[in-house]
Amino acid sequence: MESKIEKKDFIDDEKIWDELNNAINPDPKEIRNILKKSENKVRLEPCETAKLLQVEDKDLLEEMFSLAKKIKEDVYGKRIVFFAPLYVGNKCQNNCLYCGFRKGNESIVRKTLTMDELREEVRIMEKAGHKRSILVYGESKDYDADFIAKTIKVVYDTKLCKGEIRRVNINAAPLDIEGYKKLCEVGIGTYQIFQETYHHETYSKVHPKGDRKGDYKWRLYGLDRAMKAGIDDVGIGALFGLYDWKFEVMGLLYHTIHLEEKFGGVGPHTISFPRIEEAIDTPFSQNPKYKVSDEDFKKLVTVIRLSVPYTGMILTARESPEVRNEVLPLGISQIDAGSRIGVGGYKEFEKGYIPEKEQFQLGDMRSLDEIIKDICKAGYIPSFCTAGYRSARTGKKFMGLAKPGLVHNFCMPNSILTFKEYLLDYASEETKKAGEKAIETHFENLPKERKKVVREKLELIEKGKRDVYV
Ligand code: SAM
Ligand code: SF4
Repeated sequence: MESKIEKKDFIDDEKIWDELNNAINPDPKEIRNILKKSENKVRLEPCETAKLLQVEDKDLLEEMFSLAKKIKEDVYGKRIVFFAPLYVGNKCQNNCLYCGFRKGNESIVRKTLTMDELREEVRIMEKAGHKRSILVYGESKDYDADFIAKTIKVVYDTKLCKGEIRRVNINAAPLDIEGYKKLCEVGIGTYQIFQETYHHETYSKVHPKGDRKGDYKWRLYGLDRAMKAGIDDVGIGALFGLYDWKFEVMGLLYHTIHLEEKFGGVGPHTISFPRIEEAIDTPFSQNPKYKVSDEDFKKLVTVIRLSVPYTGMILTARESPEVRNEVLPLGISQIDAGSRIGVGGYKEFEKGYIPEKEQFQLGDMRSLDEIIKDICKAGYIPSFCTAGYRSARTGKKFMGLAKPGLVHNFCMPNSILTFKEYLLDYASEETKKAGEKAIETHFENLPKERKKVVREKLELIEKGKRDVYV
């Protein structure tokens, strides 16, 4: 039996607009006081975030960008966690106006991977060096909790001599509590659901009535049910371009606060902020009324970083390499790379974009190796770490540890160790050079007492041991 859902939900559209309107032309002194709070890594209140969203002054904006960079480095260091999506099936019973996979789109070739095909996709990803994946599904009765659980298990069980997916996350339609429990049993990482838009009226406009997805509240409370079922890490998101971007940032903050209040201080593990990309035969996706400019995108990422200093932020390959490079320093902790989003897309990797198979067009089609090389040259260190959830550093425990101590004691060492594996097993010569240099630099920055253990473990990896972490 499903638990009762509250009558009134926690998104009050009018209140959000009042907060935004009352924040126009914010006093610089007040903004600087809010920034002090962010600097102390305290989650902001909606009226404070509203003020940051209304900053137009160039100097103040520059201060916000610098602080977002500083917070990112204090909390996450220079590491960037890598993952790749794996589309399992694109059948869909919904008609979300913006999506290439919507039921009414006859240009899309419908396909669900067989378990053998799934294994094949996984092996290709593993050969490229991926260790973390997010499985993605349309909404269909074929993709129920049992099916999703089966696919998670297949992914974990598909291993190469040098290669395995160690963390499987999910992006799928909301389930009931019983369904989520089945995913817990097979070791799910994060369950991600994007509300798409928090604005009630817009939500109804873009999700036709009668569709399963037309039920705003079922979706809004989807992650409450996941957490009640025992899934520790959940991810929220909004699809930018459906409605006013400032409103959506407020919605993401209210969602964060709701989860924190309900689950003993544990908010979302990650926040995503995809922008609408063009999809085949999908007019809505071509020029959305609320399209977010690159300048505003930079600002929205910054305000999210300043508002929720400890929450992971995901920047996907929807964005072009140029935008990714510019936005990365402003607070991003995870990116996907070498991604393909067609069902069976890794098997056809070299073909690049295949419109009739893909949900939308990606902006960054570089290979994992290429992106890794570029990231290292820009001063970052890639991480394939999955130790956190395998050592139970999730949920409450993660939040308790998510202070600089976590970065220096666990995340940075594990980043170095998992990246070393990548360099030895998968990297091209050029990437190896850039990567070894990155390891050297970041090793030097480790606390003295951590260096010894990391050095010992690096030696083990060089001797052939794998999956080594602290
Ligand atoms: N079908 C499930 C659902 O809707 O919850 C799983 C997610 S869907 C395959 C993944 C996400 O892609 C959606 O939640 C949406 O935010 C995003 N998306 C849909 N159409 C898009 C487009 N044209 N451009 C960029 N992102 C899009
Ligand atoms: Fe289906 Fe999800 Fe696309 Fe909507 S966003 S049409 S539910 S795949």
